[in-house]
Amino acid sequence: RIRSSDTFEQTGALEVENLSAWYGKTLAVNNVNMRIKTGAITAIIGPSGCGKSTLIRCLNRMHENSNNGRVTGSVKLDGKDIYDSSVDPVAIRRRIGMVFQKPTPFPTMSIFDNVASGIRLTRLWSRRGQLAEVVEKSLRHAALWDEVKDKLDQSGASLSGGQQQRLCIARALAVEPEIILLDEPCSALDPIATLKIEDLMKILAVDYTIVIVTHNMQQAARVSDMAAFMMIDDKCAGTLVEYDETSKIFTNPRDKRTEDYITGRF
Ligand code: ATP
Ligand code: MG
Repeated sequence: RIRSSDTFEQTGALEVENLSAWYGKTLAVNNVNMRIKTGAITAIIGPSGCGKSTLIRCLNRMHENSNNGRVTGSVKLDGKDIYDSSVDPVAIRRRIGMVFQKPTPFPTMSIFDNVASGIRLTRLWSRRGQLAEVVEKSLRHAALWDEVKDKLDQSGASLSGGQQQRLCIARALAVEPEIILLDEPCSALDPIATLKIEDLMKILAVDYTIVIVTHNMQQAARVSDMAAFMMIDDKCAGTLVEYDETSKIFTNPRDKRTEDYITGRF
């Protein structure tokens, strides 16, 4: 991967400022501020319904595709607000890739075309030879190549849950984003497949900035460098309670609510 390392300047800095998100009149993310660490794994944790998926979908403007989805505040990518009206959402999604909560390969497409689909959307070229190279590289990177190399023309839906999950990761990687957003990437997986995806994340974190949503606290502790704890209760909706290095969140949380959640008293 080519980065602007010649200037020693890392691209892909993501800064969330006063971000709120609604579904119609329902507030789901309430005034979140966080600077995502470049080249690290950030975990967004917290109870079901606290706004994790909504927040992560705001980071590449996916939330505006939700039913009545509305966002205020800003998300700055290298200093430029991705919500600026002059910014093309497709260009943003090329730099900030996403894997959704449910593994969703396009069922009518072959394994090959699933991986190639994002490239076809965002690149001017689409020659099969060039595509084949990128597809193979992405599948290798997602640790799926050996399992599918002899059946690239089969439907994406013919794969197991864990394979579909990795297929979706390969599809995101194929676009060569700088940042990858993963919403509960292991929710459909058994413990062995989960560990495989975790290993994969650690390998990817060498080249990419990764944000992962997980309700699995052990997973957050195992893989992430930074952790953001979100909460919801009758007084607050989708609030970021605490954001710090993962080791601090898990051993020495500053907020009582984080401590209660970490220790299972929530
Ligand atoms: P989970 O851990 O269960 O995936 P989450 O933390 O990802 O939960 P979100 O999916 O972001 O939570 O939901 C946040 C809030 O927004 C919830 O109160 C939910 O009911 C609401 N919400 C989510 N999706 C929609 C939608 N499409 N329309 C209306 N409200 C929604
Ligand atoms: Mg969710």
